[in-house]
Amino acid sequence: MLIYSHPVCWKHENENDVMLPHPERPERLDAVMAAIDRLPPVRYRRLEPPLADKVDYELAHDPRYVDAIFRQAPKGHNPLRVDGDTSLNQYTLEASRRVVGGAMDAVDRVLAGPDRRAFLATRPPGHHAAPCRPAGFCVFNNVAIAAYHAVRHHGLERVAIVDFDVHHGDGTEQIVANSAPVHLFSSFQHPFYPYSGIPPLADNCHPVPLENLTDGEGFRRAIRDSGWFDTLAEFQPQLLLFSAGFDAHKQDLLGGLLLLEEDFAWITREAIAAAGGDDLPVVSLLEGGYDLQALEDSVLAHLQALDAG
Ligand SMILES: [Zn+2]
Repeated sequence: MLIYSHPVCWKHENENDVMLPHPERPERLDAVMAAIDRLPPVRYRRLEPPLADKVDYELAHDPRYVDAIFRQAPKGHNPLRVDGDTSLNQYTLEASRRVVGGAMDAVDRVLAGPDRRAFLATRPPGHHAAPCRPAGFCVFNNVAIAAYHAVRHHGLERVAIVDFDVHHGDGTEQIVANSAPVHLFSSFQHPFYPYSGIPPLADNCHPVPLENLTDGEGFRRAIRDSGWFDTLAEFQPQLLLFSAGFDAHKQDLLGGLLLLEEDFAWITREAIAAAGGDDLPVVSLLEGGYDLQALEDSVLAHLQALDAG
C-alpha cells in the first residue's frame, strides 16, 4: 500500500470562528499518521506527492474558477475567506497541489501495478467543491480530478467513487452527473448539510440517505438494500476511488450518525469485493472526520481493510 503525505498539508489552516478552533484543523493529520504508525511497516511505503499543475484542475473545474483561486490565493499572512467556513492561507494552494498531484500519482501507480492500493493522508478535503465554487472546507475536488485523470490520461471507461462521509458530496455529484465513465456511490445523513443528493442529479449517481441516529446495523442494512453492491459488480470499475470521510462516527460531533470504526472497515471491504476484489486498483482520499481519536481508529480500520481487500 502506498501512503501519500506532505508537511505542507499541516500548514493549511482555516480561519477560526471567534474563539472556537476550526474543526478542519492540522491536528487531524496527526491522528491519521498515528493510525498509519499502528500498521506493520512492511505493509506500506510512504511517498512524497508531486505538485499538480494548474491545468490538472481543469479536469474537474471551470478554468475561470481555477484561475481565480490561483491568482487570489494569499501570498502573505492575510487569509482569504472563500465561503462561510472555508478559507485559504498562504500554504493552502501548495497543500492543494500536493493533494491533487498525489492523487494523480496514486492513480498512475495503482493502475500500473504491482501496488494496487493507495491512501492520501492529506488535506484540504474536496468533495463539496463544485466546478465553479468552494464549499464546506473544500476548495478543489480532489477525488473528481483523480477520476477524470484516469479517464482522460489512462483511457479508463469505468471509474467508481464510493463516498461514505456523513455529508453528501454535492460537489462531486455536480461534476460527475451525466458523465458516463464515472459512477458515484454516496451514503450520507439526510436531511443534513448540504441538503442535496435526494433525488440524485443523474442515473450515474447512487445515493443512500441515512436518517439521523442511524447506527452501524442500520447503515449496513441501508447499503445492502440499496443494491449498491450489485450495481458495483455490474459496472465492473477499472478503478475504485474512496472519498473517505470518517465524520459518520458515533463520537464525531459534526454529524448525527452512530457508526463505529468496524463499519468503515466493512464498507471498505464490501465495496472492494463487489467492485473487483484483490486485483482492483483502489485509491482512497481523506475527506472529513473531526473527532481525533475516532479519526485515528477509523483510518486504521479503513487502511487494514484497504490493504486486505
Ligand atoms: Zn463531512
